Amino acid sequence: MVKVYTATDVGRVREVNEDSFTVIAPETYVVADGMGGHASGEVASRILVDTAKELLDRPEVFYSELVLKKAVLRANDAILSQASEVPEYAGMGTTATLFHREGEQGIWAHVGDSRIYLLRGQELCQITRDHSLVEDLVENGSITREEARNHPRKNILTRAVGAEENLLVDTGSLRLQNGDRLLLCSDGLTNMVTDAQIQEILQDGHPMDKAAVLVQKALEAGGTDNITAIVVEYDAQ
Ligand code: CA
Repeated sequence: MVKVYTATDVGRVREVNEDSFTVIAPETYVVADGMGGHASGEVASRILVDTAKELLDRPEVFYSELVLKKAVLRANDAILSQASEVPEYAGMGTTATLFHREGEQGIWAHVGDSRIYLLRGQELCQITRDHSLVEDLVENGSITREEARNHPRKNILTRAVGAEENLLVDTGSLRLQNGDRLLLCSDGLTNMVTDAQIQEILQDGHPMDKAAVLVQKALEAGGTDNITAIVVEYDAQ
């Protein structure tokens, strides 16, 4: 049995929710975190989600990592073209994080600093790698993971949908097991709530809307950004 919970919130500081998300039946999940002036981030993340729906929400679609990647690249073209036509949209962009399951197989595509986490048993693991300046700094040893959490330039992305024509899209696959918990989220969650807190909530055996609980935690911690979470629970029948 698969249970899906979704939640999004504008947060406590921003006036517009520039995050977008969607669930494409039966089991495709998309999170997009838009950025840009004049609230154009909202437009960019909406284009990403709509483009994904247009391409993937069809009975004849044959899912693969390549198809997920194609959806991101098509959104990239659409955002670049809108941005060149409408002055207020210049420079807009978005993250893109997509996950699809078929049987035991999970596939994903990813650009930016939204994330996919997998909780298996007692272990929480981040499936995607952030395309951000601080992630590069952590990886080359310049700063620690702890210093990255409060780094002044932590919102600088090294890759975003709509930023350049030749966009690199990460893709991957994993084999799912009974009991797995999956989380797709924007950085408005992960900047406010630690991995340890995320793990505690995902592990909780009580039936509850875990996406709403995670978003609530981020709000309690300050909610300085838009917050989006999709939680998927895979259990035996
Ligand atoms: Ca954000």
